[in-house]
Amino acid sequence: MLMKILVTNDDGIYSPGIAALAKVASLFGEVLIVAPNVEQSSSGHAITSTRPLYYKKSPILFDGIDAYKVNGTPADCVALGIFLANDVDLVLSGINMGPNLGNAIWHSGTLAAAKQATLFGVRGIAFSTPTKAQEPDFEFLDSFVADSLSLILEDPQLKLVNVNLPYQPTGIRWTRQSLQFYDGEIVPGQDPMGRQHYWFTVKPLEAAEKGSDRWALENGYVSITPLRLDLTSDEDLQRVLDNEPGTNRIHTPAVPH
Ligand code: MN
Repeated sequence: MLMKILVTNDDGIYSPGIAALAKVASLFGEVLIVAPNVEQSSSGHAITSTRPLYYKKSPILFDGIDAYKVNGTPADCVALGIFLANDVDLVLSGINMGPNLGNAIWHSGTLAAAKQATLFGVRGIAFSTPTKAQEPDFEFLDSFVADSLSLILEDPQLKLVNVNLPYQPTGIRWTRQSLQFYDGEIVPGQDPMGRQHYWFTVKPLEAAEKGSDRWALENGYVSITPLRLDLTSDEDLQRVLDNEPGTNRIHTPAVPH
């Protein structure tokens, strides 16, 4: 049976990246696009819980692919898309205009969409590419997106995966998330009215750990990082359990009643 693939992103339905991803996805199965109606970059895993969600058929034509825009976040789009389509086998998110490497994956809306899929028991894969030096060459990236997707789909145990593609890749590497550096920086400035304002932005970084996602991109490779939902620090949990065997002790209030 043909695989049913939901394609979304955090750049919004008008981004060229989602068109590029949907095109490759259609080689693998039946594609449905459900994406935010406006840009939702850096929205992380936010969900909309204080107002209703609506969807509308997109005015953009995606070569015969059904496409809908939603007044919500990437995670909303995945939840709504899976609800409406009912039998989604795979969620693809991207191709994001900008990399999602290292600690950036904590606030990435692109990755959150893939994560939302995994929370529903559906495989989720995020795709991102840098845009700083030049516009992405999606024609060139096509075959690398397809190859990465084939590689990932070959292993049914891979549930949540983060893929980053350099401008013109020369190969593909399995990587781990870089932890050594964080590129978030607050830069103060003044607006035209003379008020102080602040941009949460990106600063230049040093080289990353070998074998990490950032290392792969710096060396011209596509980076594929398998991720997991369980954030538990096994080492820390084991350490505190070892230090204190009677952990499940009865709580004694500090202030006597
Ligand atoms: Mn984005």
